[in-house]
Amino acid sequence: MTDCIFCKIINKEIPSEILYETDNVIAFKDIHPVAPVHVLIAPKLHIENIEKLDSENISVVCDIHLAAKKIANDFGISEKGYRLISNCGKAAGQTVPHLHYHLIGGKRFGISIV
Ligand code: AMP
Ligand code: ZN
Repeated sequence: MTDCIFCKIINKEIPSEILYETDNVIAFKDIHPVAPVHVLIAPKLHIENIEKLDSENISVVCDIHLAAKKIANDFGISEKGYRLISNCGKAAGQTVPHLHYHLIGGKRFGISIV
């Protein structure tokens, strides 16, 4: 999609710190990190959010989870633990309408999810 910021990152039209890339997914550093490790993992296909997943495109979720596992290992946080979060819709705080998962770690989180 032409006016989507993450599509622009995927198409290398705007710069980003890309950490991992396959034919189907891309992972890059969040521009405003909330933890020592804060990586965004997104499908290359423009899918708005979880609500737009279906049987045709669901394989990207597997790709994203495998990417998350590899990136966590690369950052050395696999053992300690990390969070993988996807905000879906306005009430959840989704600001970029291109499916993405926040991989955050490198610190100890509390029990509360919010
Ligand atoms: P969300 O609020 O779940 O939609 O998350 C969007 C995330 O994208 C935020 O954490 C932003 O900091 C991040 N973000 C926005 N623009 C960029 C960019 N150009 N490069 C890297 N991260 C970005
Ligand atoms: Zn997009």
